[in-house]
Amino acid sequence: MTPPCREWVNASIRRIEMERTRCAETHLLKVELPSMPGLTLYLKDETTHLTGSLKHRLARSLFLYALCNGRIGPNSTVVEASSGSTAVSEAYFARLLGLRFVAVMPRTTTAEKQAEIVANGGEVHLVDEPGEIYAAAIRIADETGGCYLDQFTFAERAVDWRVDNIAQSIFHQMSEEEHRVPTWVVCGAGTGGTAATIGRYIRYRGLTTRLCLADPVESVYHRHMADRNVRTWRGRSVIEGIGRPQVEASFVADLIERTIAVPDAASIAAARVMSRFIGRSCGGSTGTNLWASLLIMQEMAAAGERGALVTILCDSGERYRSTLFEDTWLAKRKLSCAPYQRQLEAMLAVPDVSSDPARPEPIQAPPPRARVGG
Ligand SMILES: *Cc1c(COP(=O)(O)O)cnc(C)c1O
Repeated sequence: MTPPCREWVNASIRRIEMERTRCAETHLLKVELPSMPGLTLYLKDETTHLTGSLKHRLARSLFLYALCNGRIGPNSTVVEASSGSTAVSEAYFARLLGLRFVAVMPRTTTAEKQAEIVANGGEVHLVDEPGEIYAAAIRIADETGGCYLDQFTFAERAVDWRVDNIAQSIFHQMSEEEHRVPTWVVCGAGTGGTAATIGRYIRYRGLTTRLCLADPVESVYHRHMADRNVRTWRGRSVIEGIGRPQVEASFVADLIERTIAVPDAASIAAARVMSRFIGRSCGGSTGTNLWASLLIMQEMAAAGERGALVTILCDSGERYRSTLFEDTWLAKRKLSCAPYQRQLEAMLAVPDVSSDPARPEPIQAPPPRARVGG
């Protein structure tokens, strides 16, 4: 590729910086759990980004990184391998710069996300196996003379881990709270970029906070944490955005101090129950985060500890309306959430709202909600 025109690159970087300045930071929601006094759960609500997920931050950083490395010019086709959320955000930034964008995704990616990519002016290229996305993206970039953004390699280095990132925002937003340094931050790993940023920031600022990885049972990452020689796993999780078939280059294992493997059905139950409980719709990976967070909080409560735990509301359940929130879809895949749902409702002291045919439903007030934001 001939070096892109510097004037165009400069103008494009300016456009992205202007976009950043127009955007607000995302909220940190405070959730009090009546069953666990002395402990507070905080949710970093990334759904309020313009493109609906934490990937808005990553997409912005990846475009800036590629521009500053001379990898994108005015005629570049931009290509990405994605399970969906990254592609939605990248389609938005490609349109901001007037570039063609192609997302390579597994065929199982929800129709909702595919529609959002198209709505943002992107093109969708589907492959049959999740492991095929990388090679297909490289091929399309080669054929078009375009730029493969490659989130799985560049996420950890395109994002600045010292300033201006999700970790700095979280710890700033915690600074007036009763427990201003959380005992734990819990997050999942897709690229691993978010975990790397938070883990590095914690060390950089000398904080005592510990980082826990919440990982789907069918993902390679928790296996890799137990045995660093394991680098691939042929599992199938229905939780999009996290869990991978291979350890990605952006995953920094040494920053993670604990790992909790979460069954998909538990993640889905947590996404459903917590969506009702906090009154904000949560996607599947948020359910994974919440299940792991509640396990840790139960341990803390049992040990008589007080403190705060922060986790991430990665994207909205609206993106999974036709899948994780659809009973027939779950039944077809033999995913039984009911036992986990009952466990969660007991944990949260929420009355069981699932209908019991033996007992006529009384007319119910809306299910109690957590006090959020108080
Ligand atoms: C990407 C993603 C994650 C994980 O974030 P990484 O920084 O890539 O590890 C979690 N949830 C959703 C919905 C995502 O799209």
